[in-house]
Amino acid sequence: MNGFDTGTCLPADSVPRAKRELAERAVIFFSRELGIDPPPLKWHKGARLTGVTSIGAPRDCVGMLNHDGSISLDARLEGDKLIETIAHEVKHAQQAKSDPLFSGYCRGARALEAYEREADRFAEDAPRRFFNQTAKAVFAPDTVGAHLKGRW
Ligand SMILES: [Zn+2]
Repeated sequence: MNGFDTGTCLPADSVPRAKRELAERAVIFFSRELGIDPPPLKWHKGARLTGVTSIGAPRDCVGMLNHDGSISLDARLEGDKLIETIAHEVKHAQQAKSDPLFSGYCRGARALEAYEREADRFAEDAPRRFFNQTAKAVFAPDTVGAHLKGRW
């Protein structure tokens, strides 16, 4: 099975609703940044790399891009780490769309390393970008003063 242990797949309703909704919004946000359709989201617990195929899976394997184009996230992710992981995997989804060989690269392949670096760079500042736009959407300009007493 491709050297990949997908761990325990979780039914979506076993993940707290607030986390699922946050994750869905983040997938849509980063997909818009990259101009792709938002990939479907799945949840897992305890996925591990056991072999040579590693494309789409970060080293700690908390998220991955699946061959069917969906993204799997470790249900234990929280906060900034959750958002960074989503940004990283959405970037992989974009890379896969533009490179037919994407899922065929072996671990250690130069192209894979380059894709990983690119996905890490995209994810670096992701929580700030995402939470900034969320804050703007929640506090419309004319209500910001009232809610925050002029503080930004
Ligand atoms: Zn990666």
